[in-house]
Amino acid sequence: MNQTTPPSTSPINRIVPPPPPIRPVQLTGTRKNAPSAPMAPAAARTPRPASHIAGGSTPRPGGRPGGRPQGGGRGGKGGPRGRGRRETSSGIHFGPPKSRDLPNVKQPPRNPDAMYLLPLGGLEEIGRNCAAVEYKGDIVIIDIGLMFPTENMHGIDYIIPDISPLYGKEKNVKGVIITHAHYDHFGGVPHLLPKLGNPPVYGSEFTMRLVQKRHTDFPNYAKPVVHIVKPKEVFRLGKFEIETFHVNHSVPNAFGVVVRTPAGAIAFTGDFKFDTNPVNDQPADEEHIKELGRKGITILYGDSTGSEKEGHSISESIVETNLDKLFGEHPNQRIIAATFSSMIDRLQQMIMIAERHGRKVVVEGYSMKTNVEIAREIGFLKAKKELFITSEQSNKMAPGKVLVLCTGAQGEDNAVLMRIVNKEHRSLELAAGDVVIFSSSVIPGNEASVQLVKDQIYKQGAEVFHYKMMDIHSGGHGQREDLVHMIELAQPKYLIPAHGYFSHRAEHAKLAVMHGMARSNVLLPGNGEVVEITPDKVRLTGEKYEINHIMVDGLGVGDVGNVVLRDRQLLASDGMVVVIATIDGHAGTLVGEPDLISRGFIYIKEHQQLVTDTRQKVRQIIEKQIAGHQEPNWTHLKASLRDGLGQFLFQKTERRPMILPVIVEV
Ligand SMILES: [Zn+2]
Ligand SMILES: [Zn+2]
Repeated sequence: MNQTTPPSTSPINRIVPPPPPIRPVQLTGTRKNAPSAPMAPAAARTPRPASHIAGGSTPRPGGRPGGRPQGGGRGGKGGPRGRGRRETSSGIHFGPPKSRDLPNVKQPPRNPDAMYLLPLGGLEEIGRNCAAVEYKGDIVIIDIGLMFPTENMHGIDYIIPDISPLYGKEKNVKGVIITHAHYDHFGGVPHLLPKLGNPPVYGSEFTMRLVQKRHTDFPNYAKPVVHIVKPKEVFRLGKFEIETFHVNHSVPNAFGVVVRTPAGAIAFTGDFKFDTNPVNDQPADEEHIKELGRKGITILYGDSTGSEKEGHSISESIVETNLDKLFGEHPNQRIIAATFSSMIDRLQQMIMIAERHGRKVVVEGYSMKTNVEIAREIGFLKAKKELFITSEQSNKMAPGKVLVLCTGAQGEDNAVLMRIVNKEHRSLELAAGDVVIFSSSVIPGNEASVQLVKDQIYKQGAEVFHYKMMDIHSGGHGQREDLVHMIELAQPKYLIPAHGYFSHRAEHAKLAVMHGMARSNVLLPGNGEVVEITPDKVRLTGEKYEINHIMVDGLGVGDVGNVVLRDRQLLASDGMVVVIATIDGHAGTLVGEPDLISRGFIYIKEHQQLVTDTRQKVRQIIEKQIAGHQEPNWTHLKASLRDGLGQFLFQKTERRPMILPVIVEV
């Protein structure tokens, strides 16, 4: 699994010259479908998948749906860039080391009676949430999430937590607890569970069903052993007492979890909000949280995602009133609602409203269909079977009798909404007069994609309703007043703001201090920083593990490291030039003309002069290097070609393509 190296990044330095494709001296440009054609895809078209989508948006290995980010911004355009000499992919294995290869991490002596908290992800980003708690040798892990790549991580599907600090301690892991069914909390499970010796996984029914469903995408990995836990359930994992508490979120069956030992208790909120009037759910169990507080909570490890938003998060019930009004105002038009497939509550609302207004419901999109199915099976989504029809059936009905629920609220290329709008869907096509609802907020970074879809919808004579135009959105995360309320209920001695970028966490911290918490009792460790908990004190020990980005690309986990990534960034910003030169080793002369291939650098056909000059330059460099040498030094020659040609091309174009010299000796 770790050995996969994509062929595109093979270590060029060590290429043993393959028999050259004997091709006329030219030229990429004349070949059909040359990918270096001037039309580059606009970087803005690649939407960032939502880290809060359960199902659907995450590419599966093997499958590689078209939505994975490909394009991307240019890295620092303009002027000479001091990149200096570049290393190309070395083919070195970047995966997490096997425990026996690990350098002996010096663990400072530990207090045998203390509990240790080790955050492994989610403190410097939105996503890849993961934390380990250790007590007297036993370990529990809270959440193993994933994170979606930033724009310059070309071709990376997602990033999972770096659990290397736990290597060597696998057998101590008593269990993994998943707080809720969002990918940023459980998406790393299939990859990392086997590395931990497949410990049992605990979570609510809905969460565990989705963990199992996700595993079907990874049939070769060990099957997770899942245990369904109810809210307010108390159970033991090794030396830990675990207690769950019900919270509201944008996915059903979310809970927080208290991990208790004689040294103290940590309450992990998971993602939460308080909704006193939720749709299809119970309000968060405030009484229970209060009771947990009375019993004693040493640290609140709390969700900070919504800490920059004033007030309370809006109740789903208000959202429902607005949606109902919208349906009432458009009795004769077809309604197409795009949202996240994991927003089961929202889907439930839509379905109920549709029923009230005499509409039948079409559910489109793989993830949407499976999630609706699972939610109905376990009773989280209540809807009569007769309410659902196929898209084909809906085409025979009056538009005012139809609601289409689909994926694509983020403008994702491969989602259903996009296909309906682009007339690429097998049975549904956008028509003038349709009403399209975007029922979720746009994830930062996706604005351009959403704008593009909206424009296309308007151009075709349909109407768009967006959460900004009316309040048809409510977030899944508690806002400032909710965060304060959680602190008031749980009465923790210490707060560790979690889940979010540093700005989110710092705002959460400030909020706690503003509401009376001592400054010294708010801790802001980074990923990998160890927290020690004893009955009288909580402190950062100063021990810090290096936490890397473990990148998943197709079937490879962790094999794409920084060198490969830098290559991809270079390729994406300035393309590449392959120079193939055939050399007579005995005579020490160049045979024929060197062959040039450009990908993403220039369109060769339109730059004949540059091609001629470049060949000339290649000839010069080679002749200078091998003249008079009996045994030319190939490595040296390649390095001179890379440097000399790099300089030459930069002078001519102010671009720095990657240069791959291939020397064929005859
Ligand atoms: Zn969530
Ligand atoms: Zn989250």
